[in-house]
Parts: sequence; structure tokens; C-alpha cells
Amino acid sequence: MQKRISPNAAKFLTSLSVGIVITIFVLILSNIVMNRALRVSEKRYLDSCEQILKGYSNSIQLYIENYRTSLNSINNKKIFTSGSKDEIQEWLSKIDLSCYEDFSAIYFVDSEGMAYFTSGETEDLSDRTYLAKRTDASTSYFISDIFNTPFTDEPIIIIKQTIFSDNKKYCGSLCAAIEVNKFQKITDKIKIGNNCKVYLQDSNGIFVVHPDQKYVGKTYSPADEKYSHISSQAVSNSFSGFVETQDHENEIVDLFYSKIPECEWTMAISFPKSELESIFHQQKTTRILIVISCFIALIILLIIENIVLDCFYKRQLINTDYDSLTKLWTRQRFEIEATKLLRRYPKSKFMLVESDIRGFKFINQNYGEESADKMIYFYSALLNDITNDFHGIIGRGYADHFYTFVKITEVRKAMSVFKKAMEKVTEEVKKYDIQFFPKFGIAFLMPDNTNRDVTIQGLIGQASFAKSTIKDNLLTQYSIYNSRLLEQINREHFIENSMESAIEKNEFFVMYQPKIRLSDDKIVGAEALVRWRTTDMGLLTPDKFIPLFERNGFITKLDFYVYEQVFKFINNQIKEKNHIVPVSVNMSRNHSKPDKFMHDFMEIFNKYEIPPHLIQVEILERSFMDSETLKEITNQLHREGFSVAMDDFGSGESSLNMLTKIPVDVLKFDRDFLLSSTTETGMLESKAAKFIEILINLSKHLEKQTVFEGVETQAQRDFLRSIECDQAQGYFYSKPLAEPDFIQFIKMHS
Ligand code: C2E
Ligand code: CA
Ligand code: CA
Repeated sequence: MQKRISPNAAKFLTSLSVGIVITIFVLILSNIVMNRALRVSEKRYLDSCEQILKGYSNSIQLYIENYRTSLNSINNKKIFTSGSKDEIQEWLSKIDLSCYEDFSAIYFVDSEGMAYFTSGETEDLSDRTYLAKRTDASTSYFISDIFNTPFTDEPIIIIKQTIFSDNKKYCGSLCAAIEVNKFQKITDKIKIGNNCKVYLQDSNGIFVVHPDQKYVGKTYSPADEKYSHISSQAVSNSFSGFVETQDHENEIVDLFYSKIPECEWTMAISFPKSELESIFHQQKTTRILIVISCFIALIILLIIENIVLDCFYKRQLINTDYDSLTKLWTRQRFEIEATKLLRRYPKSKFMLVESDIRGFKFINQNYGEESADKMIYFYSALLNDITNDFHGIIGRGYADHFYTFVKITEVRKAMSVFKKAMEKVTEEVKKYDIQFFPKFGIAFLMPDNTNRDVTIQGLIGQASFAKSTIKDNLLTQYSIYNSRLLEQINREHFIENSMESAIEKNEFFVMYQPKIRLSDDKIVGAEALVRWRTTDMGLLTPDKFIPLFERNGFITKLDFYVYEQVFKFINNQIKEKNHIVPVSVNMSRNHSKPDKFMHDFMEIFNKYEIPPHLIQVEILERSFMDSETLKEITNQLHREGFSVAMDDFGSGESSLNMLTKIPVDVLKFDRDFLLSSTTETGMLESKAAKFIEILINLSKHLEKQTVFEGVETQAQRDFLRSIECDQAQGYFYSKPLAEPDFIQFIKMHS
């Protein structure tokens, strides 16, 4: 069996999957954006570290530049290249050391290694390694590595300018000693950021500047083995870069370093790793927050969407799915739900009941729309309760049409349940202010039905058809669709398609049933009865096509066709000088305009030369004309010389009152009179017989001729004769006869 997801679940699943897709999309997008942001901030971090490092480096370089300029101002090339020792000594003694704040000593060392100080002292410094480092003429200054001297407490560095004679001969070096703490002061002055630590180290990796004073003049190697290879010497040996390492406080740091231009020293700064991580951490939290808020926003959106859609959907439902008056399903929705049931239980039996109210149109017109609506509401509630009892579904169609669809186990059982339910409905309906009578059409769907693939619309059609076959009398309340009815549908379909051409092909013809005077059994008249000789279905009697023609209106056309046939026949008989009796023709209930009827009738009649007393028109009491109009047409027919009979008198709801109102000449008593008063033995029931006798007497008093239809037995004939009924028409005397037989019959019974 095919499983179907309910629309609500489908809606929820759709929303959910859309939600998930959007969430994943947002996640991916936020990840991309955040990663990008992280990369950008990481790059910014690196860039700004490099900038800071560059800042420090430049400052140190500037100071060194400054020292060089100062040293340059002291340089007297002439004296230092060609002056005597005294001249050198004298030149130096003129220099005021206090003018050179950072220099702790200034001295000239001649080519033999003898140093001459500004203080006037001399000393042999020929063993000093920094003196051996001779720069060439172009970069004629040099900064030494850090070292300690016995003369100062602080370690120092030497800045040295090498002096050459014009012929590039080495003449000596002008030197200045600077205590390294001067550099510490420089870096302190330009302190950037709180967490940044600044290092300056010489070409051997010995610290000139170090945040921890005790490392000044020393090298450093991290304690952790992982970083031990990143010693200060190792850093000195590379030009620039950044590494992760461990500082003297055992903190993991990012170390940025770079050689100071034109010098062997290295400037380095470090930032605690935790610093960067806290930035990253912040960003990570932001990312998670974004994702969470996206998700929450999404869920809120989904909920809102669901609520909005629900409202919208419900509104739609009210408009298209629920009937505004009864709050039941509309036919449309009913069909959808019933179809679902059919699909869910493909092997089950189902019962579809269509019901409506007799003469609802009439109720609507007479009591007003509001009362009719109230009645519909009352009836719908009743049907709804009963349907619910049987776990069925119900819907309302147009006006008073209701549909019920129930899964059943057995047709027989379902019918007995239905009948009980119908009794209950009838009981309840009786309590209502306005009297109304529902009727029901039933269709069954069986698992072995050849038409199992019938749609709900098809089933409704069947139930509807069954209902339409219910006669006007109140005895039948329901009708069940069956294959016989299906045959009828097909037949009616065929009839409707071929009736027009049947007239052209003269397939309709007339038979004549004699009317016999009971006093002497002589023929005194006949009734013209139409027959249809079809090519496909053989000979059809009027009961097969007249009810349909009454429904589709074709009967009025057929009536005139029959009249023409009858007039033609009589006219021929007259011409041939054959004896002829008055013939009565039937006027269908569909004619509603007397003037039009008379006009058309006379137009045909006048084509022939027939004395009007040979024609009788049988009118129906329950025609579409009201009694006033019937009276009018009777008068008009009388005026033209025709006689008029009231057909089917006593059937249905005839009222004796009519007898006085409509001036007909003949009363044709309905066949039902005899049928219902004749016992199984063929004898007449005394009470019924008495009633008929009274009616015949009454008719005589009213000066109406009396004809009895459907006389089949001698007993009936004898009875009618005994009560002095005028004429009889029935199989006892003759069936309807074809023209030649009828002519023969007249000859024999005149
Ligand atoms: P109706 O006008 O009451 O006609 C009498 C019907 O009773 C005829 O049926 C006739 O054959 C039948 N009948 C006569 N005697 C007996 C009898 O002893 N026993 C039984 N069982 N039946 C008897 P038919 O010809 O089938 O006509 C049926 C109905 O069709 C007619 O009832 C009439 O209402 C209608 N009809 C027939 N021909 C025409 C027509 O040309 N125009 C119109 N508008 N209606 C027609
Ligand atoms: Ca008749
Ligand atoms: Ca009749």
C-alpha cells in the first residue's frame, strides 16, 4: 500500500529541511567570513609587530647615526694622520667630554695600538680585538660587541671611526665608549605596548638591552627543550624573521627580530602567545555567537513562517475547504478526502450516499432564504452526527446536496444500518418547524467491481443518478445505484443522442388502443400511443423514453409529431371513407404556455380536413400549468370544438376540487384504481369497489363521461358495467394496435 505523508507533516518537513539548508549555508558562510577575518587580523598582528620592531630598530639606528656624527665632529684628519703624539694629545685634551652625554670616554688609538684619552692619559690597547676590525674608507665606522672593562661598572660598547691617510694607509682609530644602559634608556623612552618586550643584542647574541637587567651582557637559551635551539646566538645569526619561543620568564612568546641596518646587531621584540590567542579566542567566541544567533533567528523565522502560513492556510481552508454555512467540508474537499480514503483502503468496500431535500427550491422561495439556510444547517448537523457515528466523512455540495462516504464491511449490513439511520433522520426531521422530506441516492464500491477505478466523482454521479430515479411520491426515500441503472444511463445516453434524428428518420409511430362503450361493447374511441422503432434497441415503449424526454424537454416536439401522424391517419381514413372513431392524443405535462400550444396545435390541425369532434386531448392534472391555466387551455380547446379528457384521474395527489375547476368532458380513471382494488383471486375488494362506484356516480352528477384504463379481466369489465361506467380501455378488449389492425378492429366492433 502506498503510504502518503499528511500535508501538515509535509509542510513541517519542508520547513525543517529548508531551515537546515539555510543553517548549513549560514554556517559555511560565517566560517568563510570568520576565517577571512582571522587571517586578516593575524596578518594585521604580524604587520603591526613588524612595524613596532621597525620602530625600535630605526630609533637605535638613529642614535648610532647620531653617535657617528658626534665622533665625526671630533675627527681632525690632519692631526690624526700626520700629527705628532703631542699634537694628538693636545687636540684630544681640548675636547669637553661632558658635551657628549652618552660617551663615557673618547680616545684615539694610533697604528701601534697606543690610546690617547681626552683626559690626557695614554694606554697601550694593542691587544683589543675591536681595533683589529678595520672598516674600509667608505664605511669607516664600526660598533663593537658588548664587553666589560675594569674602568666602568657597566658593560660598554665602542663606536670606532677608522682613519686612513690620503694614500689609504691606516693611521689609527677614533673611539668612543658608550655604556650599554644608554641603549636601555633609549628603548625605554620609545616603549610601545604593555606586553611587548624589547631586546637588543650584539653580533654574538649578547644582550645590549634586555627587559631583565641580569641578562645584559649575557646570552640566553630557552629552558624548554622544544625551543632550546632558538638561543640568542641563533637569532643573531639570521637576518630577520619571527619564531615561537620561550622567554626568560618561561612564557611562550612570538619573537620578531631583525638586523639593524649597517650594523651587526639584532633588534628583537616579543609578544606573549596568549595575547594573540586571546584575540583569536575572542573571534572564535564571536563566530560561535554569530552561528548560534543565526540558528536562533532561523528557528524564530521558521516558527513565524509556520504561524503565518498556518493562518493563511486556515483562511484558505475556510474559503475553499469548508462550507461557510454548515462548516462541513465543501464538495471539493470532500472529494479530496474521500479519494484519500479510497487510496488508503484499495481492497475495502465503500458506500456513498447523496442526499437532498424534496422541493427545496419551493421551500427556498416560499419561506425565504434565511429559513432555508436555517433548515440546511439543521439538516447538516443531523447528517454530520450520524456520519460521525459511522466514522464516515461528509461534505456539502450545491444548495441542499450532501455527500456521505463510509467504509463498510458488507452491503447488507450497511443497508440495514443505513435504514435505521434514515429512520432516525426522519424522526428528527419531523420535529422541525418546516416540514421537509429528504431523499437519498446510494452507490457502492466493491473490491471486485470491474469499475474499481471509478473516481469519487463517478461514485457521486452514480448516487446522484440513483436519487434522480426516486419518484415524486413519498413512499420511496432512497434508491440504490446498480448495473440496471447503469444500463438505463447508457440507454438514456443513446436516446438523447439519437432522438432528433429519430424524428427525421420517422422512427416514431403511433398505435391505437380502442375505447369500448361498456353498455354494448362497441368501439367508441381510441387513444393514440407513441412507439419508437430503433435500429439498435428494437421497439421501445414510451416508459423507456418519455420520462427522459420530459426531463430534457424533447417531449413537446414529439407531441406535435404524434399529433401530425394522428391527423394524417384520420384524414386518410376520412378520404378513404372508412369508418373512424374519435381519437384522443396525449398532451405532456411540459407544455406551459397555452397560447403557444394552441397556436402550434391549430397550425398542424388546419393542414387537414378533420371535424374537431374526432379529436380529444388528454391533459394531465399534474402538469406544469397551474389549474387556472389548465382551465384556460380546456376552454380554448372547447372553443375549437375539441373535447378534453383528464388523464390519470385519481393518481397521485388529485383533488376532487379540480373537478369543479377544470371543465373537462371526460375523466380517465387511472389504472392504479383497478390494480389496487383487485384481490389476488381477481375479485374486487368491496370497499374499493364502493369507492369507485361513488366516484362514477359523482362524475355523472358533474356531467363528466367516465373511462376506465387498464381493464384486464372480465370481472373488472363486469363490475365497471354494473356501476354504469361509460367506457373501458384495456387489454381485456385490445392492446394498442398498429394502423391496419386498428382499422380492422373498428370494422369489427362498430
Ligand atoms: P397513458 O396515457 O395512461 O396510456 C395508457 C397506457 O396504459 C399505455 O401505455 C397503454 O398501453 C397502457 N395500457 C392500456 N391498457 C392496459 C392494460 O390493460 N394493462 C396494462 N398493463 N397496460 C395497459 P403506453 O403506451 O406504454 O404509454 C405509457 C404512457 O406514455 C402513457 O400513459 C402516456 O402517459 C405516455 N404516452 C404514450 N404515448 C404518448 C404520446 O404520444 N404523447 C405523450 N405526451 N405521452 C404519451
Ligand atoms: Ca393517456
Ligand atoms: Ca392514463
